[in-house]
Amino acid sequence: MIPLVDLKASYLPQKTEIDKAIKNVIDNSAFIGGEIVTQFEKNFAKFCEIKRAIGCSNGSSALHLALMALGIGKGDEVITVPNTFFATTEAISHVGGRIKFVDVEEDTALIDIDKLEKSISPRTKAVIVVNLFGQIPDMQWIKEITEEKNILLIEDSAQAHGSKWMGRQPGYYSDIATYSFFPAKVLGAFGDGGCVTTNNDEFAERIRLLANHGRKSKYEHTIEGYNYRLDTIQAAILNVKLKNLRSNIITRRFNAAWYNSYLHYNHIEENLFAESSYYMYVIKVPKNRQEFISYLQKNGISAGIHYPIPLHLQPAYRGLHNGDFPIAEKLAKEVVSIPIYPELSIEQLDYIVEVVNVFYNKSNS
Ligand SMILES: *Cc1c(COP(=O)(O)O)cnc(C)c1O
Repeated sequence: MIPLVDLKASYLPQKTEIDKAIKNVIDNSAFIGGEIVTQFEKNFAKFCEIKRAIGCSNGSSALHLALMALGIGKGDEVITVPNTFFATTEAISHVGGRIKFVDVEEDTALIDIDKLEKSISPRTKAVIVVNLFGQIPDMQWIKEITEEKNILLIEDSAQAHGSKWMGRQPGYYSDIATYSFFPAKVLGAFGDGGCVTTNNDEFAERIRLLANHGRKSKYEHTIEGYNYRLDTIQAAILNVKLKNLRSNIITRRFNAAWYNSYLHYNHIEENLFAESSYYMYVIKVPKNRQEFISYLQKNGISAGIHYPIPLHLQPAYRGLHNGDFPIAEKLAKEVVSIPIYPELSIEQLDYIVEVVNVFYNKSNS
């Protein structure tokens, strides 16, 4: 069986080094904070080509920290897309903000910037751009729009470690970028983990305080905060895995190029000036999607749907007057994520292409 994501395969090449890093934390019995977390924050900031990186407990707390640090509060409108993971909008509600959805583009599955511009109101305080599947929209254009209207800009980059727009990574055009190190992500821990990045020192200081009980020293608390810290064992693992991140992304991009050339199905497109980290490779299967997924399964290939229910149609948001988002709904009915992880062999890529194209030919003849 070819899984959608192979966590074991990503561990094995670095097993010795990772095991040693974990053992080192245990031997020192320094489990919270410390030099290893600081080291990871420095290394990750360097990787992201950004001034500050603050480790935190997961990608969801990273979003919550970002909104709090930017001062988003009760009644403030925050614009985002309906085709994302639920955590994006949960964070808006957690600070008392009002969720406002904007539809996406059919080709890229990313925020429709014309619609974004039209949907901005006097109550709009922030926009959360979601770099879905590793793809990045025209951040320069979005920045021009939000800057002109004095609106704060966040990138939910939980799926976009190392992705680029015009050679710049998340957090360059925006105020803050957030990351998740959920095990399956492009950079994954052995449990939960996350990070917030920014070029703004003031935001960085506030995030650092909020993530650790608002403390400056052990028992002095400047403000009330949270326990949203990144685990030291996770930081130790991430420090090792970070070394392979760029080469893993290059391999993911190679796999994507392979699929782009050989698969018959349409796929989520990369913007001309973007460089996706390809967290997921997503094809569009408008006909017989469920049958297609079962057929892949029977042929030893796992697939996923990201995401089957757009957020405006979630039971949790019943009663919220959101409007219609036809493109997000259409995509939800068509998308299928197929394996693209860097440890796939050429033989496996070839096999997946062959199996997928047989179904395409059958259902389009
Ligand atoms: C994974 C993910 C999150 C949440 O990250 P966790 O670490 O699981 O809390 C948020 N947004 C997006 C787009 C994600 O893919």
